Amino acid sequence: MTQKRVTDTVTQGTIKRVWYSFKTSGFQEDEHSPEMRRVMFLNIFAFITILALLVFGSVNLLVDTPWTSTQNGIIEILAALAGAGILLYLRLSQRIGLCTNLTLILIMVVMTFLLHTGGINRTGIFWWFCFPPGAFYLKGKSVGWRWVLGSNLIFVLTLLFSALDFTSVPYAPVTLRQFMAAYLVVSLLMYTYEIIRAEYEEQIAKDTNDILEANQRLGLEIEERKKTEEALGIAKLEAEQANRAKTEFLSKMSHEFRTPMNSILGFSQLLDTDTVEPLSESHRESVQEIAAAGRHLLSLINEVLDLARIEAGRMQLHIQPVEIRPLVEEAITSIKPLAADKRLRIHDEISNGPALHVSADPNRLKQVLLNLLSNAIKYNCDEGLIRLEAEACDGALAISVTDTGIGIPKERQELIFKPFQRLASGQGSIEGTGIGLTISHQLMTMMGGTIRMKSTPGLGSCFTITLPTVDPAVSESAVSVDQEQEPLAGTAGKTGTILYVEDELSNLALVEHILLRRPGLKLLHAAQGHLGIELAQAHKPDLILLDIRLPDISGVEVLDTLKATETTSSIPVIIVTASAMPHEKEELQEKDIAAYLTKPLDVHLFLRTVDRALVQVRAHNSTISEVEALS
Ligand code: ADP
Repeated sequence: MTQKRVTDTVTQGTIKRVWYSFKTSGFQEDEHSPEMRRVMFLNIFAFITILALLVFGSVNLLVDTPWTSTQNGIIEILAALAGAGILLYLRLSQRIGLCTNLTLILIMVVMTFLLHTGGINRTGIFWWFCFPPGAFYLKGKSVGWRWVLGSNLIFVLTLLFSALDFTSVPYAPVTLRQFMAAYLVVSLLMYTYEIIRAEYEEQIAKDTNDILEANQRLGLEIEERKKTEEALGIAKLEAEQANRAKTEFLSKMSHEFRTPMNSILGFSQLLDTDTVEPLSESHRESVQEIAAAGRHLLSLINEVLDLARIEAGRMQLHIQPVEIRPLVEEAITSIKPLAADKRLRIHDEISNGPALHVSADPNRLKQVLLNLLSNAIKYNCDEGLIRLEAEACDGALAISVTDTGIGIPKERQELIFKPFQRLASGQGSIEGTGIGLTISHQLMTMMGGTIRMKSTPGLGSCFTITLPTVDPAVSESAVSVDQEQEPLAGTAGKTGTILYVEDELSNLALVEHILLRRPGLKLLHAAQGHLGIELAQAHKPDLILLDIRLPDISGVEVLDTLKATETTSSIPVIIVTASAMPHEKEELQEKDIAAYLTKPLDVHLFLRTVDRALVQVRAHNSTISEVEALS
């Protein structure tokens, strides 16, 4: 009993599996997917159609039916078209499994048997012979048109064979021809489709290949670009490092230059202005030559340093509203002696005009104006004219400096703002470096302005700078540009002690000589930072002059210690340094210092600064003693 149930279950399972395989054409896919549902529907439909034809053939064989051969033919055509349609669909959707093929072959065998036994006429089996090529065709799915031709050949041979072999069987030539035509049409369609498909596939393969190649090329290009970018990154880094090194180098060089320059300019000024032991006239002229050459060298160093700073992007500007009249006046005052040497006339239409305000860095604007004015003097002819004009237009102010000098040859004018270009013909004897205008151009651009030039050789040149104007109301706070010029009265004959912390003996010697003009002052000297701190604590000087680069500790550390120590915190400190780097100056100015002087020292400026600091010390001390007296 149990044994039977087991066998039944196994049999049922096998039948289920076969039926399932048949239904699904053997595909192991989700039975409920829309695609599989369509396959199953078509398989069952093909199965029922073929079964119906078998029944039809068998009935025709066993019973004498009243159907005419035309009716037979119609039924068979419909069945054949349904079969061909299913095959085509399966082919197109690439859905053909082993079970479908086996079913088709099995049914063909049965139909051949029926044909032999006369159960179905020859035309009746015709549709059937559509299946072998179809089956072959489907089997060779992707093999292509050769399979189609091969299977067609098999069909034609089969037909010929049956025509020879079954002449005795009832024969319906019209229906046969119709089937032949239907078969050929279907076969032709399949064949055409196959050719088109093959072409498409070829095209697609080619396109895919092209795309792959393009992809590969793109990949290579991307890789190359990445490499280039990497190389660029490295090059940029190296360039930045080189630039930093260059700036550092220039800063160091400038420091090294400034130290001897300090002695040259300082001592020549001392000799020139010595009233105790005055020089003979010819000696004074020589000393003045030395001083002039020194000043020229200094301006050269300053210009090169400025250019390096601008190129390294380290030039800091302080843009603010600036009234241009005082600025122009100051610039003219500075260059007047030079103009007088050439008996030049200066027509200044700005200083006497209305107040005009621009947005600029006052010191840098003055530097540009001085450059234009000194060029207008240098490249002018004797007794020539310099005209200064200003014109406001469209939110900008144009300031022009026109001269009646030698002008610039047309073909060289485009080089005017390029560095180290000296353009005017016959200017060999005129002092210059060829970088003043390059700096002016860069400064104007950084301040949001422009600089232009017009020149006629032999008649003169006109340089025009433009800057954005600002509302005068806002410019109320416009800064006065030079704070160092105010005269200091009543400072001579002062007494007191000054401590100079400096390692360079030539600098010390210069300051000693300068201070000889203040006989009441006593000078102490420390060649090292630590010693400077000790001397300051021991002697409590009235003023400390402090160099920044010292052999043991930096001047900044000395300053910090002095300010942090109670006994020395109130002593004013004047920084005297050969370093002209603006960031160093800014850092130090944030600390509590009395002044910041750069070497080479301007003797007058140095004395004024020392005098002023001592006056303030005295005022401070007297207030303290007043307070002490009151208490
Ligand atoms: P420098 O005057 O020190 O040579 P600049 O950069 O100021 O340097 O000027 C560059 C060159 O442009 C000068 O050498 C000169 O040939 C020409 N130049 C500048 N200004 C004038 C001017 N007003 N007239 C004629 N030539 C000028």
